[in-house]
Amino acid sequence: MQGFISGITKLKNEDIIVQIITQNKFLSLYRFYGLRHSIISVGRKIDFDIEYNGQFIPKLRNIMQLGFAWESNFTRLYYWQQFLKLLNNHLRDTEEIPSFYFEMLSNGAIILDKQNPARVLIEMYVKLLQFEGRLSLDANCFICNEKLSSKIAVTRGFLCAHHNCIPNNIEVIDKDLFFDFINLGKSTFLNDDEVEYLLKMLLLGI
Ligand SMILES: [Zn+2]
Repeated sequence: MQGFISGITKLKNEDIIVQIITQNKFLSLYRFYGLRHSIISVGRKIDFDIEYNGQFIPKLRNIMQLGFAWESNFTRLYYWQQFLKLLNNHLRDTEEIPSFYFEMLSNGAIILDKQNPARVLIEMYVKLLQFEGRLSLDANCFICNEKLSSKIAVTRGFLCAHHNCIPNNIEVIDKDLFFDFINLGKSTFLNDDEVEYLLKMLLLGI
């Protein structure tokens, strides 16, 4: 079976619980002395077996790394791991999951080799919001419900508001540019500052 490691919980000794996103499941598996196992790290794609032995949590066995060239690049790896941690939190309390998540990660991991990691992340997030039916295309501010102006503030969940309606949010983005981005699912027309701004909002939580 293949999957992406999205979380690691340390137990007593060096044992761990590993969370893995597979094609159809969000798994939690037990691993003895897992901390000594260098392959087990958040963000990694692995091939593995599950050993069911009547215990509370099945065991993670026969792990093989399915590596990507970009994993040696600290920045790309860091961005990727941040996204996986957020996704781990987002999927907690679920067991059966649609194949969308695994496929989104599989595609993202390939694109990450060539593209700017911040752009890969915000584009994956738009796909996720769209898939979950949470993509907001509302022309009104989500706080006061009045019509948005030409410059908007974007916040967690990529919700749009008036600049003044969000305390402490000092940055704005051009409304049309933002809506083009979420409609297209491509960050091509955003400059690096705009991409960083949206990434910051993504990092607040998926
Ligand atoms: Zn408002």
